[in-house]
Amino acid sequence: MIEEALNVVGMRGEEVLEKYPHQLSGGQRQRIMVGAPSCSKPRLIVADEPVSMVDASLRAMILDIMLRLRDQHGISFLYITHDLSTAYQIGDRIFLLYQGAVAESGNAVEVIENPKHPYVQLLIHSIPVPDPTIKWGDDAVRSADDEQLRQQVHSGCRFYNRCPHHMDVCLTKLPPNYEVGPHNHLAACYLYEGNSIGAPSPDDVSPTPADAQILMENEIGQLYEKEPSHKHVAI
Ligand code: SF4
Repeated sequence: MIEEALNVVGMRGEEVLEKYPHQLSGGQRQRIMVGAPSCSKPRLIVADEPVSMVDASLRAMILDIMLRLRDQHGISFLYITHDLSTAYQIGDRIFLLYQGAVAESGNAVEVIENPKHPYVQLLIHSIPVPDPTIKWGDDAVRSADDEQLRQQVHSGCRFYNRCPHHMDVCLTKLPPNYEVGPHNHLAACYLYEGNSIGAPSPDDVSPTPADAQILMENEIGQLYEKEPSHKHVAI
C-alpha cells in the first residue's frame, strides 16, 4: 500500500523507505505529504496552501499529483490558497472571501475570467501580466484605516470603505448573494440587486461574521454532498 502511494506521487520505495525525514529533500517530503492521505482512501482532503513554499517546478508537480488523485482515485480537494493562478489551474468551483465572508463564488474559470464583485475585480485586475502594453494595478480604490475596516463588519458590506461603487444601501446589512452569471455564479453585492435570486427580504437579519462562516461552510457542505468527487473547491 505504501509503495502504491509512493507511485501516485512519482516516487519509488527504494528512494525513501528506511530513510529518516531529515535524509529526504524538501521536495520529497512535500510530495510524500500530498500522497500519504491516498493510503486511507479519503473522499475529501483539505489542503491549506499546499504549494505556497515550493518552487515553480515542484508546484506544478504537486498540482499534477492532486489532479491525478482526483481523476484516478476520486478524491476531492478543498484547496485553500491566496494564489489565484493555481486556483484557476485546478479549481472546479471557487469561493472568494473578503474579511471572512464569501464575496463571489462560481465556476473557477467563469469567476476569474468574468469577475463581478468590485473586490474580486480589483483582486484580479491587480495581477501583473507579462505584457508591457497592458496597464495594471491602477483600478480606483478608496483607502481605509483599520478602525474603519473594523466598524463596517457589523453594519453592511465589508468592502464599503474601499469600494468605488458604494451606495447608501450597502451599509444597511451584509449583501446577500445575487445571480450574476451561468453555472451558479453568485456575487454578494447590491450592484446586482435586480437579479433573479438573493433579493433580501425585509425580515432578513444582517449575519454576524460567525453566521457568515457557518453559511459558507453549509454552502460548501451542500456542494460536496451534490458533487462528492471529481471536484476541487478553491477559496
Ligand atoms: S455591496 Fe456596495 S459597497 Fe459592497 S461591493 Fe457592492 S457596491 Fe461595493
